[in-house]
Amino acid sequence: MNLTKRYATLDIFRVIAAFLIIAIHTAPFLSINETADFIFVHIIARAAVPFFFMVTGYFLYLSMEKGNKFSLKRTLNKLIGIYIFGIFLYLPLNLYGSYFNQTNLPFQIVKDLIFDGTFYHLWYLPATIIGILLLKLLLRKFPMPYVFIITLALYIMGLGGDSYYGIVTQISAVNKIYDFLFKIMDYTRNGLFFAPVYLFLGAWIAYSKHKIKAQFAVIGLIISNALLLTEGLLLHNFNVQRHDSMYIMLLPCMYFLFSILLQCNGNSMKELRILSMVIYLIHPWIIVIIRLFAKIVHLEYLLIYNNFLHFLSVSILSLFIGLVVTYFWSRLKQKNPNSDNRAWVEVNLNALVHNAFVLKECLPKNCELMAVVKAGAYGHGDVETAKALNKAGFHAFAVATLTEGIRLRRHGIKGEILILGYTNPSDVNYLTKYRLTQTVLNYDYGRALNESSKQVKVHIKVDTGMHRQGEDYNAYDNLEHIYKLKNLKIEGTFTHLCTSDSLKDVDINFSRLQIERFYETIHYLQAKGYDTGKLHIQSSYGILNYPELTCDYARVGIALYGVLSDRNNTRLSIDLKPVLSLKARVSIIKNIKTNESVSYGRLFTANHNMKIATVTIGYADGVPRNLFEADTYVLIHSQKAPIIGRICMDQLVIDVTGINDVKPDDIVTIIGNDGKEQIYCEDFAMQCGTISNEILSRLGSRLGYIFKY
Ligand SMILES: *Cc1c(COP(=O)(O)O)cnc(C)c1O
Repeated sequence: MNLTKRYATLDIFRVIAAFLIIAIHTAPFLSINETADFIFVHIIARAAVPFFFMVTGYFLYLSMEKGNKFSLKRTLNKLIGIYIFGIFLYLPLNLYGSYFNQTNLPFQIVKDLIFDGTFYHLWYLPATIIGILLLKLLLRKFPMPYVFIITLALYIMGLGGDSYYGIVTQISAVNKIYDFLFKIMDYTRNGLFFAPVYLFLGAWIAYSKHKIKAQFAVIGLIISNALLLTEGLLLHNFNVQRHDSMYIMLLPCMYFLFSILLQCNGNSMKELRILSMVIYLIHPWIIVIIRLFAKIVHLEYLLIYNNFLHFLSVSILSLFIGLVVTYFWSRLKQKNPNSDNRAWVEVNLNALVHNAFVLKECLPKNCELMAVVKAGAYGHGDVETAKALNKAGFHAFAVATLTEGIRLRRHGIKGEILILGYTNPSDVNYLTKYRLTQTVLNYDYGRALNESSKQVKVHIKVDTGMHRQGEDYNAYDNLEHIYKLKNLKIEGTFTHLCTSDSLKDVDINFSRLQIERFYETIHYLQAKGYDTGKLHIQSSYGILNYPELTCDYARVGIALYGVLSDRNNTRLSIDLKPVLSLKARVSIIKNIKTNESVSYGRLFTANHNMKIATVTIGYADGVPRNLFEADTYVLIHSQKAPIIGRICMDQLVIDVTGINDVKPDDIVTIIGNDGKEQIYCEDFAMQCGTISNEILSRLGSRLGYIFKY
């Protein structure tokens, strides 16, 4: 599924950080005021590199958490690739600067490759690589809090060799340690002492998920930044800094800054990532070029000695080259094909939220809507659906399986998540880890869950006549035993109706019986002093046909998506809007003659000359194979086009004889609306001999997804 990510501000800040690094190497305010320059270059701009470390840590954690084992390898390979490229890019300048005439050259090279970078700014790349490897090692051996302490200790070591050098080396033993260290490295701002803690911090923010409040982060940033400035200026004034990459207050500053950047949304922009990397890599070359140019045209006063103009000219030229490279790079490395290139689902999230509010209106005041988002939210995309509902203020969800619940949590869905189906009791740890609520399927199942030493949140299911799940409504002993189980934290009790969709007398009577049985059981348990928690009975049809019930939750699935199972009437009829459309494209057009046949089995034969079109969707995408026998149609150019011949796995064929201008790439609507024509999911399902629920939940996993707000 092609879900939109939202890291625009991080991408924008990468470019800002790249310019901060140019500032570090060009000292823009030096000709104006030395203190101002110190504050900007040697304190503020120091946020740039830790920011890049944190971004790396953040995304590495996210993709590894999603089970992407290769992302570590891929990240390392990429960094190594860029480093090698950088080394060769600056080889000419190394040669010119007689790098290779140093004494003890092999040792120097190894030292530079690992710690200091083979050209001054390149140290950042080996630092990230070593930092990642170190962090990975630590995380394998120790739990997160210990890893934080270890990386922090390394950072403190680094501080001693950096901003606090003059203070700590007062102690002669410490001095000896740093004397030794500085034989094998020029600075402590490297992969051992500097990178790990920031990589960790980024990963930790990704891991901890809960965002801190924006106001709180802003206040935190203001305060820690003021302290950072004080720290920097004091250290500078007392002349104790050996170098000025590392400060104590840089840690909280970066934490708050990163938290603020994560608050803002917007689609991530890969181009900005490339741009910032190119600017970072290229700018030392640009400095050389500008200097050369200034000398040739005798503009040294403007372009070199005026630091601000120097900074500006380096920035502009770097930006220009960055843009050119980014443009060609993006053209070279196309992104994924667009989601709507072949067959896709369009999800109208506005309609979804509209339906949620309309349904909520039908419920009594204290009854909460529990959005059922199982089976990929009935083919609508569970994460995006749940996110949209979260945003609109809905905080109760139901899924069918453990993995569905975990998936929602990993994508930051808030509120209660009830698992309606079976979770293997051996997976109980996941229930607690992801704060999921499990349905207790009967007494035996409850006992199995209770074996764990952890408190599991549960709802108890009561079987009132469907005979699928639940403890029998009249098995009072078993029910009481369940409520006594020590490790179950019982937050609700519910049942499910099996004929609530029907308005036949016999079915209505059965639903009434089920409801009666449920309350009988509940009253019995409550009279015995058990807390039955929140009660729920209704699903979509429960609301539409039994709106008078007063519960704490209603578990709404199909109606939330603006669809009903079929065309039968309901007692309540409300204004629901279909959320999903299913679309595909014309691949080719053909003309066939009378008596020629179409598709497998030759089930369709033309009785006149025809123009036909092949459409890029088939039963593997969720269009049932038997659809052809049902004489059904799709929409193209706002007109009906009959499906002819058997549906194939990946394509189907339609008759476009009477439709003008049909051409390859035209959009074909299988479910949804096109101009004044509309194909309702209910009708489509009926033609396939099933209900909407099955059609929607079986939409194929290879479909593209487009979410509209
Ligand atoms: C799927 C499911 C629902 C939702 O049913 P809809 O008819 O789609 O609203 C409610 N309760 C349970 C137990 C379910 O399994």
